[in-house]
Amino acid sequence: MEQIRTLVCKLQPTEEQELELHATLVRFAEACTYVHATLPPNMRNKDRMQALIYRDVRDRFQLSAHLAIQAIRRVAMHRKAAHETQSGVGTFAPTSIQYDARIFSFRERGHTVSLTLLHRRERLCLALGHYQRGKLKGATPTAAQLCRHGDGTYALHIQLHTPLTPPPMPDKAIGVDLGRRDIAHTSTGQSWSGDDMRRVRDHYARVRRGVQQHVSKGTRSTRRRGRQLLARLSGREKRFQRHTNHRISKTLVAEATAAQAMLVLEDLQGIRQRTNTQRRTKTERRRSNSWAFFQLRQFVAYKAAVASVLVVWHPPAYTSQMCHACLHLGHRQAKRFACTNAVCGWCGDADGHAAKNLAILGLNVAQARGPWVHSRWSGKSTGLLKAAGL
Ligand SMILES: [Zn+2]
Repeated sequence: MEQIRTLVCKLQPTEEQELELHATLVRFAEACTYVHATLPPNMRNKDRMQALIYRDVRDRFQLSAHLAIQAIRRVAMHRKAAHETQSGVGTFAPTSIQYDARIFSFRERGHTVSLTLLHRRERLCLALGHYQRGKLKGATPTAAQLCRHGDGTYALHIQLHTPLTPPPMPDKAIGVDLGRRDIAHTSTGQSWSGDDMRRVRDHYARVRRGVQQHVSKGTRSTRRRGRQLLARLSGREKRFQRHTNHRISKTLVAEATAAQAMLVLEDLQGIRQRTNTQRRTKTERRRSNSWAFFQLRQFVAYKAAVASVLVVWHPPAYTSQMCHACLHLGHRQAKRFACTNAVCGWCGDADGHAAKNLAILGLNVAQARGPWVHSRWSGKSTGLLKAAGL
């Protein structure tokens, strides 16, 4: 098993190289457009397509052998994707080219790459930060994507293959409850309050609203500037969210590694329906619909895979209503949970409580019904039985 990670590295081309990069991307896109227009539209097999049109593409567009092949592959890929989603193949923009080991190489000394371009092979400098240097140390990447970003700069998205070792089966589990009040809350008591995030995001929403009024009413130039500002703001908010998700997932995986435990997270399909059952104001709707939980899950998954930490996804049914101490159903009200079982009577923080339930359930699932949870099962504990789908 291995994992592919993409490292975005800025290129520092000379003026001459920049022209050459641009020319290559344009010619590549032209070749794609030609291939798509020439071959029968229902043909999707890249080898068949290559056999038919390779020679023609090379003569017509003067692309190197592998660039021509990549162009044909791109068309095949677009056609397959369009076929699957039942949509049309869009236009081919001069924004990216896939490079493999035959037309791309990386040299760690000096941090340069060599790329086959339209007229010649070029050696280009990379502008790397500390993070990228660390990731590229000792690496021999064999694939990359040359990209032209929206701001007109060029970047190389280098694909790094990391071998993975299958995670061992731990006998401990850390449950993580995801929600709106606390973005994440672990069974060990760590939590990330949603309040700070909400303040930042409310601020962005306010600013956006103000700008939107200008965009819809003002003069032509005001409208244009307003649109640009909106685009910039959305980028900022996205980066903020991304950064927060990286921080949370990194801490979760580090904690699991240190404790030699597995991570148990809610299987969040349908979180929006679940949290959106009650009538709410417009502001509340925006708040609850907008945290990137899917991204957070992805970050946890890939960070855990690299660190050999086992992650179990568990359906969230009953995890907040069932008492983790006696497995009876209890009452949850806002941030408090109270067990209705007279013998038990546990009450406390609802999020931490749900996380503890997840830890118990996750261990049970991962260890194929370990004996210790079985011993706590009773006929009355309908919550757990339903949650486990029995
Ligand atoms: Zn209880």
